[in-house]
Amino acid sequence: MPRRKEVFRSLSAAEFFYRNREIAGFSNPSRALYQTVRELVENALDACDSHEILPSIYIRIKEEDPEKSHYRVTVSDNGIGIPPQYVPYAFGRVLFGSKYRLRQTRGMFGLGAKMAILYGQLTTGKPVEIETSPLGSRYKYYFKILVDIKKNEPIIVDQRIRRLKRKSHGTTVSVVIEGDWARAKNKVFEYIKRTAIAAPYANITFVPPEGDRVITYTRTITKMPIPPKEVKPHPHGVDMEMLKMLIASIEANTLKEFLVEAFQGVGEISAEKFLREAGFNPNMSPKLLTNEGIKTLMIKLKNYKGFKPPRADALSPLGEEIIEAGLRSVLEPEFVTAVTRKPSAYSGHPFIVEVGIAYGGKIKPKDEPQLYRFANKIPLLYDEKADVSWKIVSSEIDWKSYNVDFPAPLVVLVHICSTKVPYKGVGKESIADVPEIEREIKNAIREAARKLRLYLSRKKREEEAKRKVLTFLKYIPEVAESLALLSKPPVSIANGDGNYLSTDDIKKMLLNLVIAKLERADIKLDFNLEDFDIRIE
Ligand code: ADP
Ligand code: MG
Repeated sequence: MPRRKEVFRSLSAAEFFYRNREIAGFSNPSRALYQTVRELVENALDACDSHEILPSIYIRIKEEDPEKSHYRVTVSDNGIGIPPQYVPYAFGRVLFGSKYRLRQTRGMFGLGAKMAILYGQLTTGKPVEIETSPLGSRYKYYFKILVDIKKNEPIIVDQRIRRLKRKSHGTTVSVVIEGDWARAKNKVFEYIKRTAIAAPYANITFVPPEGDRVITYTRTITKMPIPPKEVKPHPHGVDMEMLKMLIASIEANTLKEFLVEAFQGVGEISAEKFLREAGFNPNMSPKLLTNEGIKTLMIKLKNYKGFKPPRADALSPLGEEIIEAGLRSVLEPEFVTAVTRKPSAYSGHPFIVEVGIAYGGKIKPKDEPQLYRFANKIPLLYDEKADVSWKIVSSEIDWKSYNVDFPAPLVVLVHICSTKVPYKGVGKESIADVPEIEREIKNAIREAARKLRLYLSRKKREEEAKRKVLTFLKYIPEVAESLALLSKPPVSIANGDGNYLSTDDIKKMLLNLVIAKLERADIKLDFNLEDFDIRIE
C-alpha cells in the first residue's frame, strides 16, 4: 500500500481554541451556557469598574429554539463602550483585546468573549450581535459578526449607525449558542449571586428563560474598588518569552539602561550592582545577547535577592467595606466581618488576599463551612475541593477554637487578586497551593475568625444573662410580696399612715436593679424589660 504523505499546515489561533475549547470551559452545552454568561458579564464589569463607572448590568437568557436547545444570551452594560473600528476585531479575532497590560482585570487574554462567539457560531450558525456607544460619543454602532475560523478574521455580516438624542455609553452583546439550561441553571444563578456579593456597587438584573422570575441585586454601596494601575514587570516574574519581547521592544543602548527601563523597582545603582554580580557587562548592548545569554540573564534576574519587592499598584482589591456590604446585602447574616491583607508577592507577582466571614441570620446551617472563592473578583464555582482555600477552611482552621460548632451557618469568602493568579490546571477554577498565598489565606481567615469569636462569645454571654434575667423576673412578684411584708415596720413605731414599701414599689425597685445591672454589663436584650409582665397592679 502506498504511503500517504503527511500534510503540514499551521492552525489559526481561532481554530486552535475551537479544537481545545474545554480549556476555556466550553466542554459541553451546560458548561458552555454557564461560561458564556460568565465571559460576557466579566467583560461588562471590566468595562465599568476599571474606569470608575458604577455598573448597571442586565443579563438575559432566552430560549430561542426549544427543539434545538438554542439559547440567546444577552448582556448589557453602561461601561466605556468600544470604538467602532475595534469592534470587529474585539469580537471576531481570537487573542485580540485591550487588556494585554500588566494590571489586574477579569479578562486578560483577549479570548473569553470570542470563545462564546465561536462556540455559538459552530453550534447554531448565528453571528454575534453587538451594540455599542463609546464614552462621549453621540452614536450607537450596531454590528453582526461571524468569525472566519481558518483565517482568524472577522466577517461583518451587518453594520449600522444610529445618532443618539442624548449621549449615553455602554455595550450590549448577544450570542445564540446551543445550551442546556436545566443543567446549567443552578450554577448560573449561583454565579450571578456571587458576582453580586463581590460587586455590591453594581445593579444587576437577570432574566432567566422562564421569564417569570426576574432576579435583581440593587446597589447598596457607591464606593468602588480603586482601579488598577498599569505597572512594569518585576524582574522575579520574567520568563524567556517575556524577556525576549522586552529586549526587542525597548530602545536601550546598554544592558543597564534596559533593566531600568524594562522593570519596576530597578534603579541605575541596583542595575549596575546586579549586572556586575551576575557577570554581565553593564554597558553592552542588550540586542547582542545570545539565546544562552538571555537564558542566563533570566535565571539571574529571577534569583537575585537585591531587588525591591513587587509593587501592588497593579492590583485592585475589593476592600473590607465592599466585602462586608456585599455579604450583608446578599446573604443577610447576623454578623459580618472582612479583612484585606497587605500586599505580598510570590515569584515576582504581587498578590493580595482578602477574607470575609458571614454568620447566622438567613444563612442556613451546614455541616461544613460554606466557601465562596473569588480570583480577581471572579467567582470560582467548579473544582472547590482542589482549591488551596478549601484545604485551609475545611481542615487547617480549628473552627471550634473560634466558638463555631458545626452544623453552623458559616460563610467564608476568600478573594485572591494578582496580576498572575496561580490556577491549578487549565480550567482556571481552582488555585494552587503556593506557600506564600497559603500563608496569607490562613492569616486572613484567622484574623477574621477572631472577630467572629468575639461576637459569638459575647452572644453566648448575653444569652446566659438573658436566661438568668428571665428566671429572676419570674420570681419578682413572689419575692416582692414577701419583701413588702418584711419591710412592714413594727406596729410600735409605725406612723399609722401605712408608710412602708408596697409590693408594687418593691417590684419596681427590683426591676430597676435588673435594668441597671444589664446596662452596666452593656448587654442588650431583644425584649423590653418594662413590658415584661410582672403584674404590677
Ligand atoms: P479579554 O476580556 O480577555 O480581553 P474578550 O474576548 O473577552 O477578551 O474581549 C476582547 C476585548 O473586547 C476586550 O479586551 C475589550 O477591549 C473589548 N470588550 C469586550 N466586551 C466589552 C464590553 N462589554 N465593553 C467594552 N469593551 C469590551
Ligand atoms: Mg473577557
